[in-house]
Amino acid sequence: MSEHKICDVIFSDFLVQMEEFHGYRSPGILVGGLMLDVALREMKPTPYLNVVTETVVCLPDAVQLLTPCTFGNGFLQVLDWGKFALACYDRDSLSGIRVWLNPDSLENYPLIRQWFQRSPHSDQKPPFEELSSEIFKAREDLLDYRSVILHKSLKDSQRVPTGRCKECGEFYPLRQGTLCPACQGQAYYDLKPNPIHPKQKNCSEVA
Ligand SMILES: [Zn+2]
Repeated sequence: MSEHKICDVIFSDFLVQMEEFHGYRSPGILVGGLMLDVALREMKPTPYLNVVTETVVCLPDAVQLLTPCTFGNGFLQVLDWGKFALACYDRDSLSGIRVWLNPDSLENYPLIRQWFQRSPHSDQKPPFEELSSEIFKAREDLLDYRSVILHKSLKDSQRVPTGRCKECGEFYPLRQGTLCPACQGQAYYDLKPNPIHPKQKNCSEVA
């Protein structure tokens, strides 16, 4: 029996890569792989591929596993919309393909529907083996896609002027305001009283 492939990667290899990268086998990454398969097939090949995902979960990891676009190189852009959809586009021509999960098709695939619609705390989790074979059975039946043209490239290619924060002294993008985001009150941490490294001084020593 020939093995399923996702973007030219054999399914069993893809599972290994997925577990190494993502930590566990994820139906979302598998569906994401099928979405990329469709989008890249329908697009003209381009050295300027960018991908935008419309959710922060699963899809960004499918993109990072199967394309040269990563969060860190800026060619993957991630929107926190909570929509299970992505678009592949050429950042030169701005044209591409958007793929999304077809809600009507879920009626025909009870396990996929159960997985997709379950609440995060539900333990009604279909076993991965059964779910993945239903995903392969459905394959493109699960997906809808259309050609799109982007308003602009989403990769931030402008060089941003930076300067030192008057409060903490660290560099930050000046467009954030007169102080860095942390010193404007958005810090997600409190500094502990004792410096770890002797070079670090606390405020009273500096003053
Ligand atoms: Zn600061």
